[in-house]
Amino acid sequence: MELDDLYQEIILTHHKRPKNEGRLDPFCGMAEGYNPVCGDKVTVYVNGSDGKIVEVKFIGDGCAISRASASIMTTILGNLTFDEALAKSDEFCKLLTGDEEPVVDLNEDGEVAALVGIRKFPGRIKCATLAWHAMEDALKDALK
Ligand code: ZN
Repeated sequence: MELDDLYQEIILTHHKRPKNEGRLDPFCGMAEGYNPVCGDKVTVYVNGSDGKIVEVKFIGDGCAISRASASIMTTILGNLTFDEALAKSDEFCKLLTGDEEPVVDLNEDGEVAALVGIRKFPGRIKCATLAWHAMEDALKDALK
């Protein structure tokens, strides 16, 4: 199986059977994101305690990339501090928009690696970063 096929498979699997999809009630922070280019909508909920993320969930209505990115994101944020999660988001957006072709590896970087190929399609990058920006806003909301 080609690596691109494997990555596509990971994206489609998360799209069809997303992790941590749903509402959190109660929640500490919540934010919505909308990508008008593609029509993707996402709502991200977070619960945290002592500056650490306890739980992240999302509701996503949009393309496979936007949903898969949200789902993969929720799987890597558990137990991170808010600052670490913000840094991860920054790192992820740089992987997609940085000038240099990033070197990513499924073993080392996890399923995030499957999303990095989207950098070749500039029109879809917003699909992939939507949930991450909403997560940043949800953390800011939680700190209010
Ligand atoms: Zn999209």
